[in-house]
Amino acid sequence: MMNAKTEDLTEETEDLEEAEAAETRETTGKRVRERSLENEEDNIFWVKIEGEKKLATLNLVPGNQVYREKLVKINDEEFRAWDPYRSKLGAAIMNGLEILPIVRKSTVLYLGVSTGTTASHVSDIVGPSGIVFAVEHSSRVARDFLDRVASYRSNIIPILQDARKPKEYFSVYGPVDVVYVDIAQPDQTEIAILNCKTYLKKEGYMMLVVKTRSIDVTKDPAQVMREEAKKLSANFEIVQVINLEPYEGDHGMIVAKYLG
Ligand code: SAM
Repeated sequence: MMNAKTEDLTEETEDLEEAEAAETRETTGKRVRERSLENEEDNIFWVKIEGEKKLATLNLVPGNQVYREKLVKINDEEFRAWDPYRSKLGAAIMNGLEILPIVRKSTVLYLGVSTGTTASHVSDIVGPSGIVFAVEHSSRVARDFLDRVASYRSNIIPILQDARKPKEYFSVYGPVDVVYVDIAQPDQTEIAILNCKTYLKKEGYMMLVVKTRSIDVTKDPAQVMREEAKKLSANFEIVQVINLEPYEGDHGMIVAKYLG
């Protein structure tokens, strides 16, 4: 965000940062943030589009659109608007995500990449020196992902596999910085833990999207979130639990640090 390119944009950014910082102080008291959204490495931006401030990433593949998002040129750089109604990570940022562990050069294991809406922004953020290992089990969806996203982006390694079998992702090398999970399965927390035990480095982060209805339609969503967070307590420190409404109904996100 610090790299916003025009004076106008810089002013806007500062305003927004102040607002975000105030909001965070309100909700988290004196908590010391590690990689906050004010960190330059975060590689996310606020750009003015049609008079409105919008979340955006710097397009790794200029000219390339993934989901008909707006592309905006500012001083020879092209930004892609990031729609929080189409991306749960975008929704989490809009709703006060305190730590975005996905930064420039990160290695990310992404489970449930689907057609790549969010993964394309993750690919922008990590940049040419980062890697996104992108797991999807549906071959129909994965074909779309290859055609629209992965074939243009050299930092994405597509993996057509079931996230329940992490030992079968032969192309993942080394421990990763972040495991991002969005597979909408009732046992997804268990699947997420298994993947973290296999690939996440100690003190790395897991970002787990929870579709509360997929887990138990009869329970209060807040209760479901608490129960899923509790399942992580043996191996993780819970950093934040975020409700994704109004961008995504019945969804939350748990951000957790892996203790090994
Ligand atoms: N993360 C995507 C985004 O923000 O653009 C949306 C993901 S969508 C809600 C869930 C995806 O997880 C679907 O594409 C589905 O095929 C995939 N999925 C579900 N179970 C899976 C599994 N066991 N292994 C791999 N992918 C799975």
